[in-house]
Order: sequence, then C-alpha cells, then structure tokens
Amino acid sequence: MAISSNLGYPRIGVDREWKKALEGFWAGKIDETTFTQQLQDIRLNHLRIQQAKGIDLLAVNDFSRYDHILDTAVMFGIVPKRFQYEGGIVPLSVYYGIARGTKEATASEMTKWFNTNYHYIVPELGGVEPQLTENQPLQAYREAKEKLGIEGKPVIVGPLTFLKLSKGFAANETDTWLDKLLPLYVQVLSELAAEGVQWVQIDEPILVTKLSVEDVERLKKVYATLTAAVPSLNIMLQTYFEAVENYQDIVSLPVKGIGLDLVHGQSGNLSHIRQYGFPSDKVLGAGVIDGRGIWRADLNEKLALLGELGELVTSDRLFVQPSCSLLHVPVSTARETKLAAELQGALAFANEKLDELVLLTKAITQEADAVREQLQAADKALKQLKDSAARNRRDVQEVVAAVAGQEPQRSKPFAERHADQQAQWRLPLFPTTTIGSFPQTAEVRKARQLWRKGEWSNEQYDAFIREEIDTWVKLQQEIGIDVLVHGEFERTDMVEFFGEKLEGFAFTQNGWVQSYGSRCVKPPVIYGDVAFAEPMTVAETVYAQSQTERPVKGMLTGPITIMNWSFVRDDIPREQVAYQLAFALRQEVESLEHAGIGMIQVDEPAVREGLPLKEADQAEYLAWAVKAFRITTCTVKETTQIHTHMCYCEFHDMIDSIEAMDADVISIETSRSHGELIHSFEENTYELGIGLGVYDIHSPRVPSVEEMEGMIDRALRVLNPKLFWINPDCGLKTRGSEETVASLRNMVAAAQLAREKY
Ligand code: GLN
Ligand code: ZN
Repeated sequence: MAISSNLGYPRIGVDREWKKALEGFWAGKIDETTFTQQLQDIRLNHLRIQQAKGIDLLAVNDFSRYDHILDTAVMFGIVPKRFQYEGGIVPLSVYYGIARGTKEATASEMTKWFNTNYHYIVPELGGVEPQLTENQPLQAYREAKEKLGIEGKPVIVGPLTFLKLSKGFAANETDTWLDKLLPLYVQVLSELAAEGVQWVQIDEPILVTKLSVEDVERLKKVYATLTAAVPSLNIMLQTYFEAVENYQDIVSLPVKGIGLDLVHGQSGNLSHIRQYGFPSDKVLGAGVIDGRGIWRADLNEKLALLGELGELVTSDRLFVQPSCSLLHVPVSTARETKLAAELQGALAFANEKLDELVLLTKAITQEADAVREQLQAADKALKQLKDSAARNRRDVQEVVAAVAGQEPQRSKPFAERHADQQAQWRLPLFPTTTIGSFPQTAEVRKARQLWRKGEWSNEQYDAFIREEIDTWVKLQQEIGIDVLVHGEFERTDMVEFFGEKLEGFAFTQNGWVQSYGSRCVKPPVIYGDVAFAEPMTVAETVYAQSQTERPVKGMLTGPITIMNWSFVRDDIPREQVAYQLAFALRQEVESLEHAGIGMIQVDEPAVREGLPLKEADQAEYLAWAVKAFRITTCTVKETTQIHTHMCYCEFHDMIDSIEAMDADVISIETSRSHGELIHSFEENTYELGIGLGVYDIHSPRVPSVEEMEGMIDRALRVLNPKLFWINPDCGLKTRGSEETVASLRNMVAAAQLAREKY
C-alpha cells in the first residue's frame, strides 16, 4: 500500500525556539549541556508533531545545529586546518567556528543552496584526511526509536552532491576524493543496516543539474558500491528542485527507490516517466506537494497525478512525498491571526503540508469517500482566493497587459541621453555617490519601535526622520559627495517597506524560514494583483532635496528583487507578477520625477537569485527580468538619470543582461569577488555609467585612500574613465556613523586624486 513520507522538517520551531537556543548559547547565556538538551527537546517535539499528523515514514537526521552540509563535513572530520582540530568528535566550538569564524580563524564560505534562499557552509577539503568521527544518522535513528518508538528514515547528503558542493581540491582530484569518501559512507550505512534501519534517504539534488560524462560514471560507481556493501538497506535516492537530467541512468541505478520532484520538476520528470516508464523493482518517491511554496495544494489535481502514477507503479511502490524538504517553508499557519480569511484558507505551511500528504495517501489507499469532505474544503478555500477581489483586478491586469505588450525603451539611446545628462547635471569626472542607506543606529531603531507601538505620533516620527536626513545631507555635503541620498532611515527592510505600501501584498506574523545559520527571514506574501496606491518615497526624498543644491537620488527596490525575496502566488506565471510590480514601481518613478527628483536608483541585488537551475530556462528568465526593469524605468525624461545597484552575487556571466537593463549608471559590489569582476570587463566592454565598489562595507575597518586608489586604478584599466563612478560596495545601514564618515572622506580623497591623474 502507498505510504506518506516526509523528506525533512523545518528546524527553527514555531516560535523560532531553535534560533533562540543557538543565539543564547553563542552569547554564553546557556551552557553546552542546557543547549544540547534544548536542541533535543526541539528535535523530539518536531518528530512528535509529524507522528501525530500520521506521516508513515519520517526523516531523522534532518535536524541540524546549524547546517546539514556542515554536519556532513564534520561527520567526516573535514575541518579546515586553521581550526587546529586534531581528530575525534568535532567539538561544538570548532563546529561553530567553521560556521561563524573565531578570533583566530575566518569562517568557511557560505553560499546559496541551489536556487533556494537557504545558505550552506562550503566544505573545504584541501589538506584534510577524512575519517568517520561519529555516525550522526545512526544517533538520530536511535533517538527517535528509543524516545518515541519511531522507525525513522535517516537522511544523509549523498557523496556526489557533497563533493560537487565542496571546494579545496583540483578537478583531477575528484576521483581520489570520491575514493576517500566512499568507504566512510559505506561505514555509515553498514552501521545503519546492522541496527536494523529499513530506509535511508540519500539526498542527491546535484542530479537535477547538468552532469558530465565522468560524473555519470561516478554516480554509477557510488550507488553500485553502496548497494553492494549494504544490500539489506533500502536506499531512497532523493532528488529535488527540478527534473533530473539523465533520467534513464538514474532509474537504472541499483537502489531501492528514486525520489523525484513532481512540482518544480513536474514537466521534465513526468514526461520522462511517461516516455521511459518507471522500473518495476523500485519505489517511486512522488514529490507531489510543493515543499517550497506556501500555497495549499489543489488536491484534486494531485489525486489525478497520483492516479496516473498508480498505473505505472503498483501501490506498494508509491511514497507520497513533498517535492523537497519542508525546511524552506514556515512551520504552521495556525499561528496567523491577522490575515484575510480568503488568504489564510489558501495557505499551507509545513504542518499543513503534512496534512495534505496524509490526506492524499488516504484518498488513494482507502475509500475516497473517507476524505471527501476534506477535499471539498480544500477546493472551496482555493476557489475563494481565486475569486477574491485581490486576484481579479481587471484594471491592473488590462493596463499591465498593454504595457507588457510594448517594448519598454527610453526616449533616446544611452550615448545621446548621456550628453543631455552631462549638460544638465554638470558632474565632475568620477562622480562620487553612495548606495542609499546610512547607519541605522540604535536611536533610529528605537524611534521606529516607539512609533510602531503607538507611543510616538506620526508627526513625532516624521520629525525624527527629517532630523536624521538633515544630519546626513549636511555630512554628505561637507564630505564632498556629488550625488546625495536621503539615507533610508524610514526603512527596516528594502522589500518589506515597499510591500507594505503596495496593494496585493500580505504580511504574516510568524512566517519565518531559515536563511542561514540562526538567521531567519519573513518574506512578504504576494497574493493578489500588485498595484500602486500612493507615493511611497516621495516625501523623504523631496525633503532631502530641499536641503541641498546638489542632486539627491531617489531610492527604490526593483521588481525582480521584490519578487525574489517574497513568497509569490503560483496561479499566474512569475513573469506576470514581475510586470505588475514593474508597472507599480514605474508610477513611483514617475511620482519622484514629477516632484523634481532627477536621479532615481532602482536596486536589483537579487536578480541572480531567481535564475533557473536549468540552463535552458535561464535566457528566458533574464529576458523578462530585464524587461521588468525597463518597464519600471523607461518613461522618464532623457535628462533623468536612472541608477541601479547589484550585490551578493557573481555577475561575470550576466554582463550582457546588465547592459540590456539600460540603466544610466550601475553600482556593483566588487570586493567579495576578489577582482574577478574586473576581469570580466576585460572580455566584455561595458559602455554605460558604472561604479565598481571601491571598498567593502561588511567590515567596520576604515579603508585607506591608497587602497581605494588601487581599486580605482585597477578598474580604470578596463573601464572607460568618462563613465566611471566612485562609490562603496553596498548600503551602509549596518555600519557605525563614525567609521562611515571616515571611510567616505577617504573615498572622496581617492576620487580627487584620480581626477588629477586621469
Ligand atoms: N539601497 C539599499 C541600501 O543602500 C541597497 C541594499 C542592497 O543592495 N542590498 O541599503
Ligand atoms: Zn548592495
């Protein structure tokens, strides 16, 4: 009979108790014994919740003290030399040292987990002899069994994915490394088999990316070795986030089960199943419930899908699963008390997704009648949102369709606009500017709190913000910056600020998800048609401009960044949501221009985050992302200067798209790419205004004039001096005031030196 099976549960807890435990421990508020106890309580509680929901097969070892890739690394004794680890179980202090850095040693790099907003710690293999330090999956299995009588399914990151995500070795050492790791995996699995474990879930999300011929051979070798070593253990080879490449190779592996994403990879995986069938000796892990989105499933549609699969595999070989671990969604909708009923009813977070899995399993294994009422309730809830006024803004849909039907284009090409803008603004060579935000000091945060709590009136709060603007406009003038900003003191977060003012957004009270380590984010929910309601940034910008003769840049977050950092409705294509956002933001751009603001920056730091995993889909995404930016910015006068800003990512393979955005000026983060960005401009000419950040804002250190001169010289070897701007890497909101002023003074001095030289 088909069973329900989970792939992983959120770690953070319904009250973010996991985050609190970690941070309490780091701050020295609780000792290691208490901390370990707290983590166990949380872990067991999460298993109890899943057990009570009636999930048949639960993942264990999905929990972590920080990150599951780091867990895998330390399980194999993979600790960078600089942490002076000498073998044995990796102490907690070393574990957190790798994750967060210590006084003596820098942390390991952190990077995005596939195309999610989760970040993992990159294992550094160089100079390390791996060894099994402790069998974590076995411990997790025993704990669940002894404490709760649960026959769990240990989860472990597969060898191929682990190696592919690691660094510190040359490509031609891959096989050597595989040969070192494989025996350790065998050992882990043998101990599990000896314990009587039935199923183990080996996560190999790397299989949804393009594999080389050598990698496919490695894949075959890995799973032949593992299954030969532990024939009694059932291996579920789990993939997610997209359709697998190499379907036929994968389903021919000698493992007991293959887990496929039938939501994000539906078209690819399903058509492969239809075309090639599914082997009769294997279990199909059918990932039918979206493990990444927050929406309630259309259960009838899911039942139809399961029905089709049921004709291909016998029911005892079907696991009903989420598409990926539920790590990527918030814990429960039960805690939301302030959402509109139509929205509340249409949401499903982790706990509700478990209910859906159980329900679907019941529906296909028992009389469908047993669950008819629940199916009807789900249907009704979805219909309510579908029919809601928020999703049926004819006004919005019509105008956005018309706008998107045209090619968004500035009135003149860059070369001509540039001349007009030079005549208008009379900026010096190498104009200096900043990215937008200035320090959000304790006073700024305090003021916002008082205002949010109602202890301060709007007038009081506005007056406070104006004072901050005054201070920083004066400071910028005095330092000698050419293009000023108001400082963004009124904003907590660059997406939330706009989401709260646009129509079509909702905000949850508890919709937190883990981003990295103990850091959680609460993305806004784009649930309806997005529309502009009233000007969002005009008052502060115009006020700042009234205090100075120099130009003040208006500051907006771009459509793609707002979308990529939100939970997005899935009833219409993301492209459409992007155009709605773009059109709404265009109205803000126009309001600013109308109010006399002649330079407007539209930030797009998160463009790359939405890049599809499949290479074949990337060009299309970039095309509509660029178009959305152009929709936002194309209607201004030729003399109005459009800026944009990007950070957090690699740009070298995106320069064509960045150019196509047609912004008059872009500022890009440079320091963290270690000069690689500059190389990419050797290969690609860039002929619009550009400022490569001349100092890293992630540290309180004040960079010297000479250092910044060096950065400028390097950049000018490949970029046109007439188009070059001088600015920091990113916004300054996390910095202190003193270091900010000192750094900017040095930056302006470096610009002056450059003007003399060039
Ligand atoms: N304008 C924003 C700021 O200065 C940009 C933030 C970002 O790039 N992440 O804070
Ligand atoms: Zn930035």
